[in-house]
Amino acid sequence: MSSSKQTARVVGAEDFWRGKTPCWEMCRCPESIHAACPAYRHRQYPCWEIEGTYCKWDEWGTLGRDTSVCLICEVYLRWGEGKLIELKLRGQGIKLLLNL
Ligand code: SF4
Repeated sequence: MSSSKQTARVVGAEDFWRGKTPCWEMCRCPESIHAACPAYRHRQYPCWEIEGTYCKWDEWGTLGRDTSVCLICEVYLRWGEGKLIELKLRGQGIKLLLNL
């Protein structure tokens, strides 16, 4: 049996979101969108440490490396513990995957 929920798994690492409300639920991000987002597919990292999540995009076509949006986001404020934001997962962003 297979479903999109089953294909988005953490491979060989802890799930950062275990026991927490993940960003796609806090932001009410519909499955049609979050299923392709690297934050959903790479759960061993909090979303603010991932390049190219939907919310880091801007209309000028960057790859989603600007984390300034995270500093005022309820998700980071709730789960980020005030830690410095550093991108730790690169090359998995939506723009790269979709070749945009
Ligand atoms: S803005 Fe940043 S902290 Fe908020 S959901 Fe997006 S990636 Fe996560």
